[in-house]
Amino acid sequence: MEPGNYTIGKRKSIALVAHDHKKKDLTEWAKYNREILKDHIIYATGTTGAMLEKELDLPIHKFHSGPLGGDQQIGAYIVNGQINFLIFFWDPLEPQPHDPDVKALLRIAAVWNIPIACNRASADFIFSSRLMDEEYSRSMDNYSEYLNRKI
Ligand code: PGA
Repeated sequence: MEPGNYTIGKRKSIALVAHDHKKKDLTEWAKYNREILKDHIIYATGTTGAMLEKELDLPIHKFHSGPLGGDQQIGAYIVNGQINFLIFFWDPLEPQPHDPDVKALLRIAAVWNIPIACNRASADFIFSSRLMDEEYSRSMDNYSEYLNRKI
């Protein structure tokens, strides 16, 4: 996908990820929001996805576990335009073996201007937005200056 403006459709492709100490939080949040989630396409890292599948009884596209590359797989899907929404409850109190991947995922989500929620409060606000039921034109910074830079 080339950088540019893209529409996030009514049916969103949502990636759900939680670090271990945040999995309970995400599970509770997802159960509370099951009726909304069921109308979208759900992706998740391996362990998070297995937990949610059981709790929600909804189909979930599962990637590898985060530390084994799942975060990077989600990042690649964002760049390809196949994921356009990220709910990522990362743990601010614990270093992770895959900290560089976590940073890379958050960075690439910012580059491609997709909605990101990193905790329950922001996820609640995002999910109660009227834009959840609408198409949304996602504008991107113009990277042409960067792409055409003189080397
Ligand atoms: P997990 O990965 O869902 O496989 O635990 C989460 C993460 O740490 O990115």
